[in-house]
Amino acid sequence: YLGNIRANSSRKTTYKGSYSLYNNQPKRRILVAGGAGFLGSHLCEALLNAGHQVICLDNFSTGLQRNIAHLRRLETFTTIAHDIVQPFDLQIDEIYNLACPASPPHYQSDPVHTTKTCVLGSLNLLELATRTGARILQASTSEVYGDPNVHPQVESYWGNVNPFGPRSCYDEGKRCAETLFFDFHKKHNVETKVVRIFNTYGPRMRPDDGRVVSNFIVQALKGEDITIYGDGSQTRSFCFVDDLIDGFIRMMASPSSLTGPVNLGNPGEFTIGELAEKVIGLTGSRSKIIHRPLPVDDPRQRRPDISLAMQELGWRPKVNLASGLLQTIGYFDHLLAQSTRELEE
Ligand code: NAD
Ligand code: UDP
Repeated sequence: YLGNIRANSSRKTTYKGSYSLYNNQPKRRILVAGGAGFLGSHLCEALLNAGHQVICLDNFSTGLQRNIAHLRRLETFTTIAHDIVQPFDLQIDEIYNLACPASPPHYQSDPVHTTKTCVLGSLNLLELATRTGARILQASTSEVYGDPNVHPQVESYWGNVNPFGPRSCYDEGKRCAETLFFDFHKKHNVETKVVRIFNTYGPRMRPDDGRVVSNFIVQALKGEDITIYGDGSQTRSFCFVDDLIDGFIRMMASPSSLTGPVNLGNPGEFTIGELAEKVIGLTGSRSKIIHRPLPVDDPRQRRPDISLAMQELGWRPKVNLASGLLQTIGYFDHLLAQSTRELEE
C-alpha cells in the first residue's frame, strides 16, 4: 500500500514533505490521539505511508469516521474510541497528542471538558509515556501567546492571555499542558516534544468547523455571504496541512535534547479581509462580504518567528497561500457536490 493510501481518499495530491526521514528508522507502534480529526488523519496517513503501525485514539467529538475510512483496510491501522480524559493503557513507542477541539465554536461549546481534555488528557498520556518509555509530542498552539504584544511571536515570549475569557479554556488548558510536558521531562525523564502550531488549514477540515478558512471557502462555494468578524484588519498566518505534518515528523525524529517549544507555522501574514478577497478570487464566487461583531478576546495579529524550526529541524513551509487554498477549495467542492448528490438520491 505504500504511497497509495491517498489514491482511495478524496484527495488527488501526494505528500511532498520529508516523511522519508522516517523510512530509514525502525518501524514503530505509534499512538495518534485525536487521529480522526483534521490534522490527526493526515498524520496517521503519513505515518502509515512510512510503514509504521498506527493506533488512532479518538472520542469522535469533532473527528469524523470519513477522515480515516480509507485507512481502515490496512492491517497496520487500528482505531480506539476513547476519551483521553479517562486513563488507559497500551504498549506503545511514540505518542502524538492532538486530541482537543481546535475551532473556537467547538472548544467553547463545552469549555470545562476542553480544559479537562488539555490538562487531564495530557496527564494521562504523559503517564502512559512514563510507563512505556514512549517519546511524546504535544500539539500546542499559538494561542499560548494570546493577544500578543510581541510581533512576530518568538518562543521566548510568555504571551498575553486572559485567564477567564471565552478562549481561556483552550488557551490556559494548552499552557497548563505545556507545563506538564516540561515537568514530566524534568521529573521523570520522559522524552517530551512541544510544538506550537499556528493556524493550519487544508482538506478534511469540517464544513461546519467554524474556523475562518473553511467558513470562507464553504460560503464562497455556496454563494452565501462571506462573514468577516470585525473590520477584517486582524491578521493571521496560514500554514498548509502537508507542511505542518512534515514539521511534526521532523520534531518527533529530532534529538532528545530538543524539547521545544518550537513554533510551526507559515510566516506569511494576511489580514482577514485579504483572505476573503483571495477566496472570492480563487473560487470565482459572487458572494458578497458582510461584517459580524468581532468575538471577545480575538487576537489582533499573529505571525510565527520560525527561526528555531529552520535551524533545529531544517524545516520551512513550502506551500504558498494561493496553492494551499486551491487544494482546499477542490476538497470542499467535491464534498459539497457529494452531499448534494446524497440529498437528491
Ligand atoms: P480537530 O478538531 O479536527 O481534531 C481534534 C481531534 O481530537 C478530533 O478528532 C476530536 O474528535 C479529538 N478529540 C477531542 N477531544 C478529545 C478527547 N477528550 N479525547 C479523545 N479525542 C478527542 O482539530 P485539528 O485542527 O485537527 O487540531 C488538532 C490538534 O492541533 C489540537 O490539539 C489543536 O489544539 C492543535 N492545533 C491545531 C491548529 C490548527 O490550526 N489546525 C492550531 C493550533 C493547534
Ligand atoms: N473569522 C472571521 N469570519 C469567520 C470565522 C473567523 O472573520 O467566519 C476571524 C476570527 O474572528 C479571527 C480569524 O478569522 O479573527 C481567525 O479565526 P479562526 O477561528 O480561524 O482562528 P483563531 O481565531 O483561533 O486564530
